[in-house]
Amino acid sequence: MKKIPMTTPLVEMDGDEMTRIIWKMLKDELILPYVELNTEYYDLGLEHRNETNDQVTVDSANAIKKYGVGVKCATITPNQARMSEYDLKEMWKSPNGTIRAILDGTVFRSPIIVNNVKPFVKTWKKPITIARHAYGDIYKNVEMKVPGKGQATLNFTNEAGETVSEVIHNFDGPGIIMGMHNTNKSIESFARACFSYALDRKEDLWFSSKDTISKKYDHTFKDIFAEIYDAEFKEKYEEAGIEYFYTLIDDAVARVIKSEGGFVWACKNYDGDVMSDMVATAFGSLAMMTSVLVSPEGYYEYEAAHGTVQRHYYKHLKGEETSTNSMATIFAWTGALRKRGELDKNEELIAFADNLEKASIATIEEGVMTKDMALLAEGETKVVNTEDFIKEIRVRLDRFYN
Ligand code: NAP
Ligand code: MG
Repeated sequence: MKKIPMTTPLVEMDGDEMTRIIWKMLKDELILPYVELNTEYYDLGLEHRNETNDQVTVDSANAIKKYGVGVKCATITPNQARMSEYDLKEMWKSPNGTIRAILDGTVFRSPIIVNNVKPFVKTWKKPITIARHAYGDIYKNVEMKVPGKGQATLNFTNEAGETVSEVIHNFDGPGIIMGMHNTNKSIESFARACFSYALDRKEDLWFSSKDTISKKYDHTFKDIFAEIYDAEFKEKYEEAGIEYFYTLIDDAVARVIKSEGGFVWACKNYDGDVMSDMVATAFGSLAMMTSVLVSPEGYYEYEAAHGTVQRHYYKHLKGEETSTNSMATIFAWTGALRKRGELDKNEELIAFADNLEKASIATIEEGVMTKDMALLAEGETKVVNTEDFIKEIRVRLDRFYN
């Protein structure tokens, strides 16, 4: 076949460990034979981040601003163990954190659903997409250990030098304190991203916080969402036949479990971090969870929600067989290629992304899968290794093109 052309580059961000191995395999087998792939390549593998003093991460995020769409492989966030393993100059920050800070985006995570793996929650029939506010709160906090007796206060000084102050606590003995913040600007862009994304998917938007306890902090989130909904989205939602629904976080958790899915759930930063792992596991496997960072300017970065699958990588290094699931990484590529296609009006590329997704889902639904899925699937299953799973998808993808 004649390969599908690509006019504008896609920002390609390579990563670490097992997902780096998968990255190359799936490009070679599932993309390069069909697409005249046009990417601007950034190596975010930990060694290269260390060599460049992490400049490569910043450069890749800026490239997404230039081209609009990126696809990212999972990367190691260094900890103490990685410092010695990779002989690092510094404990470099999480690349995802750096990229999120530059793009100021919202992360949407949705499960890939196949008909032979039933969610743990019996009522769930459709995907639940979690939107995580990717700025502030506990992730940008300032914290202190209180050594002993004394008073902790919260102060704000305006430009004129006037200070308002509130007592946090009068300590009798040792304890802990934390200060966190958010900005109306970031909450507003989070709200807009969520309202638009749900409208795009024609699904209801849920938002939850703890405004009854946090009458200023969380209540501000609730108010901003309500104002933006009324001013900018109410009519569009009514036309589309979808709803915006606000409730307390604990009520939301209870309702989510009893629901049949099919909505976007907007969560504050910490709630999103925790709930997305819960929802991913309940839908089946973390390896079936996709993730996209959407910035208010309309830049998109696609990736798998899971990490670098370190345990499998060490087996791979020892020459042992692995059965690592590449679905979420494949869907990161299809998401990015489809978006590139939409922006460039490249119908062939959009169709290719659809076909690759169909071929991948068909492989699992026909019973061919990696070990993580076989543990969950109903009916007959054939467990394959990392490479053979990708080859099985290739067989089904070829049916669309030969
Ligand atoms: P992980 O890579 O998500 O893997 C945790 C476990 O989940 C694996 O050991 C495996 O279970 C299972 N799993 C995850 N993805 C799988 C897949 N595709 N196929 C089959 N099984 C899969 O998390 P981690 O081991 O805690 O973290 C490893 C590294 O990833 C860390 O350095 C962390 O910093 C990084 N990380 C990066 C990102 C990112 O870049 N977005 C996100 C999270 C973590 P079994 O071992 O039981 O088979
Ligand atoms: Mg988490």
